[in-house]
Amino acid sequence: MPRYSTEPIVVPVASGLLPESERNRRVALTSFSVRSEPPEVPQREVVCYECGRRTQVPAAALSAICTHCRAHLKMTDVDLKPGAQRLTVRTLGNVTVLADAVLSQLSITCGNCYLHGRGSGTFRCSDLLKISCNNRIEGPVQAGRLEVERGADVILTQGATVDELVVSGRLSGRIVARRRVVVRRGGELYANCFTPSLEVEQGATHRGEWHREQPV
Ligand SMILES: [Zn+2]
Repeated sequence: MPRYSTEPIVVPVASGLLPESERNRRVALTSFSVRSEPPEVPQREVVCYECGRRTQVPAAALSAICTHCRAHLKMTDVDLKPGAQRLTVRTLGNVTVLADAVLSQLSITCGNCYLHGRGSGTFRCSDLLKISCNNRIEGPVQAGRLEVERGADVILTQGATVDELVVSGRLSGRIVARRRVVVRRGGELYANCFTPSLEVEQGATHRGEWHREQPV
């Protein structure tokens, strides 16, 4: 049988007091610590849709206040059904126009937007705008990445300003792409493009001018 013995207090200094670090260690072992700082909340960075600046918000929050302009930012996802009455949507979340919807005069500001149905109006998407059915969009379009899916025939009467455009279907309109334009095999792009990089894959079509510089 091993013999149990408590840890002896050996004080190596003449004063008889434990060194401070050892004393703190023992106090920590024998007391319940009360955390003074608030628990760490996972944060994520978003771009405020009012002032355009980056701000940190709790990752799981459904709404937050911009630390710069104090705007109330919504983060919920919104589905727009056929016959939807709400035409102006501002959220950092996703907006989906559901199949069979035909909505005009939309004003959408969001993170990602998915057009499974028809939606026309103004689009400002900080990340992705994905169009997967025939659409004629009468307002300005801004997105991080614009994707036109195979089988979709899209007309942008006021064009689009994006970082990146990927066309797998058919797209007409004036395109300003800060990073690049890619026309996938089978894709058709009828557009004057202002972009530093234009890639037209084999079996893809591009008709229009290509300017490497951004328009003034
Ligand atoms: Zn702001």
